[in-house]
Order: sequence, then structure tokens, then C-alpha cells
Amino acid sequence: MTGKKFEYAPAPESRAIVDLKPSYGLFINGEFVDPADGRAFKTISPATEEVLAEVSEAGKPDVDRAVQAARKAYDRVWSKMPARERGKYLYRIARILQERARELAVLESLDNGKPIRESRDVDIPLVAAWFFYYAGWADKLDHAGFGPSPRPLGVAGQVIPWNFPLLMLSWKIAPALAAGNTVVLKPAETTPLTALLFAEICQQAGLPPGVVNIVTGAGETGRALVEHPDVDKVAFTGSTEVGKMIARSTAGSDKKVTLELGGKAANIVFDDAPVDQAVEGIVNGIFFNQGHVCCAGSRLLVQESVYDEVLASLKRRLGTLRVGDPLDKNTDIGAINSAEQLARIRELSAVGEAEGAERWAPPCDLPDKGFWFAPTLFTGVSQAHRIAREEIFGPVLSVLTFRTPQEAVEKANNTPYGLSAGVWTDKGSRILWMAGQLRAGVVWANTFNRFDPASPFGGYKESGYGREGGRHGLEAYLDV
Ligand code: NAD
Repeated sequence: MTGKKFEYAPAPESRAIVDLKPSYGLFINGEFVDPADGRAFKTISPATEEVLAEVSEAGKPDVDRAVQAARKAYDRVWSKMPARERGKYLYRIARILQERARELAVLESLDNGKPIRESRDVDIPLVAAWFFYYAGWADKLDHAGFGPSPRPLGVAGQVIPWNFPLLMLSWKIAPALAAGNTVVLKPAETTPLTALLFAEICQQAGLPPGVVNIVTGAGETGRALVEHPDVDKVAFTGSTEVGKMIARSTAGSDKKVTLELGGKAANIVFDDAPVDQAVEGIVNGIFFNQGHVCCAGSRLLVQESVYDEVLASLKRRLGTLRVGDPLDKNTDIGAINSAEQLARIRELSAVGEAEGAERWAPPCDLPDKGFWFAPTLFTGVSQAHRIAREEIFGPVLSVLTFRTPQEAVEKANNTPYGLSAGVWTDKGSRILWMAGQLRAGVVWANTFNRFDPASPFGGYKESGYGREGGRHGLEAYLDV
């Protein structure tokens, strides 16, 4: 059964606000420069497959140049500057991010494929909030709980994924600069454009050259950065597979490493939960950002006694989701970020069917061009199924059931990951009990996918180590 969709006229956000250049250099020492060997790659719109721009591919000599620029800026300027002056730069950047929010949101949706509603209302406001929050810490590090005058580490090499391009940049750069480090950051190869616009914002803010450097490229560029001998701190967000490689390659060095990796979160609905509210939370948990969310609630655990009611309501709700043009303000689900990611989602969904789970998706017209996947759920899923164990990183929900709270806990914790979990119940005591039992870095109660710069975020087990956000997020960038 599907719900009735209201007819909406198209409401596209204009892209005229974005000044796309045909090509972009690397941002090193405060300037855009050409890469040593002149290599470049194209970044496309996943919604239309149109080429948006050509972007430089940094090789080892370019990464070396960026690290040297960061080192010089650290030694001569940033580490010598009074902390309150550093804070002023961060405040200035935060304000410019707010002033240019619409431009950033449109560019993010163009390059990533996420709905403008999300980039405008979630990503970019959080990006500014992250800079404001850490700007406030810059001259208060003595009070962060790490002893008097905690020292920065030096040069941070930071590598981020494509699912929240500018937000992940802010999680990396804001605490690093506030703590007194300089950075070289590599955005993901499919979403480099907002990081390059951020580089322009650094120029606009008058940030001293070399404090922030942006090197674009793919895995090899990332590897050159994390393995560079003059990098003191490695911060990586991405897949568990690459995270393990980085852990191996940095072992035995004196680099400080934090890894934010994958997840397979349980979203647990008890029989006393308000069903409509829980259904909204389930939808937000797995269909927000096309399910390209490390902490997505990709495993729904429903108490058996309310299974039929929850499923019927959920299917009805999925029938009302609009899939299509990311720049249309009515769109709920945008494009899948890349052909490669779409292939992975298709492959794992096919495995789900082959292993015996039942696949369901509402009728939905998908555009001819671009990368699209209808919101999908699987029922009859067992814990052994690959779709219950592996991260799909797409709009695909696996539904399982439980009878007792203890069974819910056992099933929720039966995963190699441990990033997040959600609990839906009317009972406060049960929320507290569940939060104590669940091996997850974040447990949301009667909500999901809520972020705040003051709140630490990070995983257990194969979801990585270290925390980002809050006072804890400073520790990763201080010599403590
Ligand atoms: P990925 O690991 O393939 O790529 C992430 C980044 O690492 C990209 O910039 C990529 O170019 C770079 N990279 C690739 N190989 C590298 C290497 N050998 N050395 C250094 N850098 C290298 O992951 P992805 O597919 O882009 O992102 C999706 C993954 O990110 C998912 O597993 C998701 O759960 C995870 N993620 C985690 C969090 C978190 O906070 N825990 C947040 C967002 C995404």
C-alpha cells in the first residue's frame, strides 16, 4: 500500500549563485597552484552526469609541498599566535560560512547529489556551528580538562569521505586550528568542490598562508598524505577497509591517529513507542542523505507485537517520499553519489534477495540520467544475512524483529561495528538501561541522526577510535 502524494509544482533552487570555474588548482600556502605533473580529473553531478569542473590531482611532490607549507605556517605563525587571535580567525570563517551558506548549499547538492533541503537546513548550518563552537575553545584550552597549556601536535593530515563533504571538513579543520595545529586536508575525489570554495573562504578571511592547505585527488593522494613523514597527526573518516590500511601504515610511527569508520546501526522500536513518531525516525535514520550516513539506522529492530502496525505505517510513509532533482526544494531523496556506489548498493540488494529476504520498494519514477536508487526495505532478514551485517551505505533498510529487551540488545550488538543506535520507547528507565547495554558510540532516544558540535561522536570496534566534537574532539589535536 502506498500513501497519497500531494502534487507539487517544481521548486528548483537556482544554481546561478554558484560561480563554477572550469578548472581548479591545489590550495597550497594560501594560493591556488598547478600540480607538479599537471594531472587532473573531472567531478560530475551525480544527478545529471554533467561535468561540473576539472580538478587537480595532487601527486607526492604536491603533497610534500603542502605539508612543508603547513609546517612553516605552524612553526612561524600559527603556533606563535596568541590563542585569542586564532579564535578570531575561526569566528571570521564561521561568519563567512553563514554569509555564503546558500552558495555552499547549492554547490554541495550539485557535486554530491544530496537534496538542497538537507544541504541548506542540515549540512551548512552545522558547518558554521562547528566553526563557532571551536572558535570559542581556542583561548580556553587550559580549561578543556587536559592540564595547563596543552600543546598542539603540529601538522595534521586529514582525509575525508564524500557523504558530508563540507561537514566532514569542518569536523576536521575547526578543532585542529582551534588547538593550534595547521592542516593539509584531502577531500573525496567525487566531492571536492565545497572544500575548494572553503579554500577561497580562508583567503577571504585573511587566514595566514599555509595554515589550511587543500590537496585534491583520490586514494593515492590520501596515502601520500597519511604516510608523509612530517605529518604529526592523521585524522581519517572513511571506510573500515581503508582505515585498517592506515592503522597498519602508521603503526610504529609517532603519529597520533584517529579513525572514524563505518557502521551498521540498530534502530530499535519497542511496542510502547509512538508509532508515527518512530516511523519518522526510521525514515530519517536510513533515508536521510540517501542512506550515505556512517551512523545510519540501517537495521530496524521492531518488537514483534507491533511489527505489522509499524511495517504498514512505514510502507505508507515510503510511498510519499519524493526521489529526484537534488536542487528541487520538494525532494526528499536525491542522487546516489557515484556510479560505483550505486553498483555496490545494487549488488548487496541482489545478495539480500538471493539469500532469501523479501525486497519491497514503493512505485517510484527514477530519472533516466544520473545515479538513482528507490527507497527500499527488506523483510524476513536474519542476523546472518549479508544485508544485516555489511554496510550498504544507501537507501536500503533491513528489518528484523525481537520479543524481549534482552534479545533486542543481543541483536543490536551482534555486529562488527559500534557507531550508533536508536531506541524508541515511552519508558525513560528503559532508555537508560538500553543506553548502558548498547555498544555504540552514540545512542539516540526517540530521535535519530541528531548532531551538535558540543557532543562527542565516534565508534567502538570496527567503527574506529577517537572522538570528534565537544571537548573530547580537542584531545585528538593536543599533545595530551
Ligand atoms: P573510502 O575509505 O573509500 O574513502 C574515504 C577517503 O579516503 C577518500 O577521500 C579517499 O580518496 C581516501 N582514500 C582511499 N584510499 C586511501 C588510502 N589508501 N589512504 C588514504 N586515503 C585513502 O570511503 P568512502 O567510500 O569515500 O566513504 C564511505 C565510508 O566512510 C563508509 O564506510 C562510511 O561509514 C564512512 N564514514 C564514516 C564516518 C564516521 O564518522 N565514522 C563519517 C562518514 C563516512
